[in-house]
Amino acid sequence: MIGHVDADCFYVSAERVRYPHLRGMPVGVLGNHGACIIAKSYEMKAAGVPTGMPIWEATPICPLGVFVKRDFRWYEVLSRKMLALVQQASPRVEFYSIDEQFFTAPEPTHAFASGLQQKILQQVGVPVSIGIAPTKTLAKLISDSSKPFGCGVLASENERLALLRDRPVVDITGIARRSAKRLADYGIRTCEEFANADRAFIRWLLTKRGEDLWWELNGTPVLPVQLVRPQHKFVSRGGSIGKASCDSQRVQAFVVRNVERLVEALSHYHLCCDHLILSLLFTNAPERSLRSSLLGSRADFEALLEAALHLLPQVWQPASAHVHYMHVIADGLRPLDNRQRSLFEQPQLADLKHRINNAVGRFALRSAATLPLVDVYGDQANEYDICDIYGKSCF
Ligand SMILES: [Mg+2]
Repeated sequence: MIGHVDADCFYVSAERVRYPHLRGMPVGVLGNHGACIIAKSYEMKAAGVPTGMPIWEATPICPLGVFVKRDFRWYEVLSRKMLALVQQASPRVEFYSIDEQFFTAPEPTHAFASGLQQKILQQVGVPVSIGIAPTKTLAKLISDSSKPFGCGVLASENERLALLRDRPVVDITGIARRSAKRLADYGIRTCEEFANADRAFIRWLLTKRGEDLWWELNGTPVLPVQLVRPQHKFVSRGGSIGKASCDSQRVQAFVVRNVERLVEALSHYHLCCDHLILSLLFTNAPERSLRSSLLGSRADFEALLEAALHLLPQVWQPASAHVHYMHVIADGLRPLDNRQRSLFEQPQLADLKHRINNAVGRFALRSAATLPLVDVYGDQANEYDICDIYGKSCF
């Protein structure tokens, strides 16, 4: 049997560990640029504030709300404490995301689940919900349905059917809105209808990924608990740039920032890449992405930046479009050790930058092209992001 442990409104619960006076209050955690709500307490949810809403729309709906900026360094500290407790309880644990782990359940009982839940509450201070079932997909469904602060064990066929009945297919992890729409075209709207559908039909409609979920929902485990992170298919850095912008200096500065972050990530994973992709999302035009081939396999700032800046004017079309999201993606990955070196590399310079930033601060030494982003680098909350937490298997 497989267990799934998932913290209840994790970012808010983490803030309440260090600021206990926030307990019982409506709390919203704000994202990158202090504008949108990325997590909320049950009290704020009850007031009608959805995730993603900007703070200026949330305050009239929830005037007593308290808003704090996210702090992923702190959330990672608690996440790793939670992971250590689950690892004490089970020999096989997957660090699935910052607040979720899958594990093989040594005792598939309610007593085991609530024992672990109490231990995490006492030692980490964060409430969690736990599900135990024959497969990962069912375990996650049952922990979701047990929220907040619940435990569920799927022990019989009747309990499995009751869990799937009337539950919309989008509740299944791996069925996004597009797949749900394709299923709805054939009259499949609930998890029960999905599990009862013809397996070959599901494979035809949603490929192997859909078929895997079909087996899992029917109680046959096909998705293993992954103890080590699977190989990357690509590495990406980016995200929102805050207020949408058509200021070329500001957008270019974000490209440079994300290339510096990508170089850090490639160095952490000991990877280099053959291609670089730049993807821009606009508020008033369709998304555009283009790919550039590098001269050999590279992981250095100069080569990746040159490729990104070469792509920028071609991806940014029309030039009047307002950019609000971007991604810089390393594609065609190879282990760093196996690559052909260029005659003109300056590894000592990159190494020096790395050593200075390790000693003084992450972005202490950085490209001068990022100078227009005074607001971003002046705000400590931007020093560390969710994707900077290494070791998770779902990122
Ligand atoms: Mg959670």
